[in-house]
Amino acid sequence: MTTLTEARPVSLPAGMRGIDHFTAADAAEQMGTQLRLIREAAPRFREWFAATGTPDYVGTFDLITLPYPTKFGLFRAHRTPAPFLTITNRMMLLRWREEEGRVRTLLSEPSDHLLGRNTPYFARLSEKTPKQFETLFSRTFGDAPGQLRRLGVDPAAVDYITFDHLHTQDVRRWLGTNEPAADISPSHPVEPIFPNAKLIVQRRELELLAADMHPLQAAWYQPAAYRDLRAGTVMEIDGDVLVGPGIALLATPGHTIGNHTLVLNTATGIWAVSENVIATECLTPEHSRIPGVSRYAAEWQQEVILNANTIESTAEQYNSCIKEKSIVDRSRRDPRFLQYFPSSELTANRLSPGTAPTFVHGGIWHGTPPRVA
Ligand SMILES: [Zn+2]
Repeated sequence: MTTLTEARPVSLPAGMRGIDHFTAADAAEQMGTQLRLIREAAPRFREWFAATGTPDYVGTFDLITLPYPTKFGLFRAHRTPAPFLTITNRMMLLRWREEEGRVRTLLSEPSDHLLGRNTPYFARLSEKTPKQFETLFSRTFGDAPGQLRRLGVDPAAVDYITFDHLHTQDVRRWLGTNEPAADISPSHPVEPIFPNAKLIVQRRELELLAADMHPLQAAWYQPAAYRDLRAGTVMEIDGDVLVGPGIALLATPGHTIGNHTLVLNTATGIWAVSENVIATECLTPEHSRIPGVSRYAAEWQQEVILNANTIESTAEQYNSCIKEKSIVDRSRRDPRFLQYFPSSELTANRLSPGTAPTFVHGGIWHGTPPRVA
């Protein structure tokens, strides 16, 4: 029983392969039908994916803690009047070996927070909020190049970077530009900090940035940042891809149209990483002690509490969360919760009573850290 697709409209590098377990579900137009097909396909995917192996290394690094509107993060489920909760953005470093022994390195979610601030949503927020407020909610731990330096990883060793989706992301400093960039490098092209890295991104996410952005999407993107990326630095994929042993990117549209989820097989089993929800308890809301969450889920007969800053395709996002929920293993620390790791994870903050998470992952760690060069 082979479940790999050879013919894909975009060509993948040697070592990566398309995955077709969810093809029938992806094609379903009726959202309830899609949900059923996702649930049916998940067990076979799990079995197949676990047999692909494990990466050599997975590590997680804190980047920044930020305020985030409660009404987005917990959709309609919370009871707290606090307008903001706190999330922590984290970057992951993955290493694996290709069949012929070559080591590959991927950074997941290496957000450039300095340039991310130019996103219309953030620009508007900081205009409206006093500086002291930002200081109370925000804490910077380090940027992507700094965290790698600390670990002894050469930036030139990074082969790939990827994001859940491109909300707020500006990758010009990581990948470089062909021409000078008026705002950050007016006299010469932007020098890439990761000179050998390619951005892995879903075709649909790129298409959305290219033209005709809808008002429900526009507040969250910086399309101008993608018009002049250095040639050869963008690797388009279309749908589900096995990136390496125990590393996959599964299309999980909804939060954005080109959203994807990082799926990992580690010593503790299968994990999913995305921003589809902000706390793992949002996938098992019946076990949440955040006031309002379990009650809302029971009352509305919903199995997940979405991260809903964009509600352009809410039923699809719900289905994508069920996909994540159906393929991961349970946490060994507390089996009420799943090995779903939100890359922007809800973090307790005294200033936001009624939003403290019941359970926190804090990261995924697997294997031996790379040797200091
Ligand atoms: Zn987003």
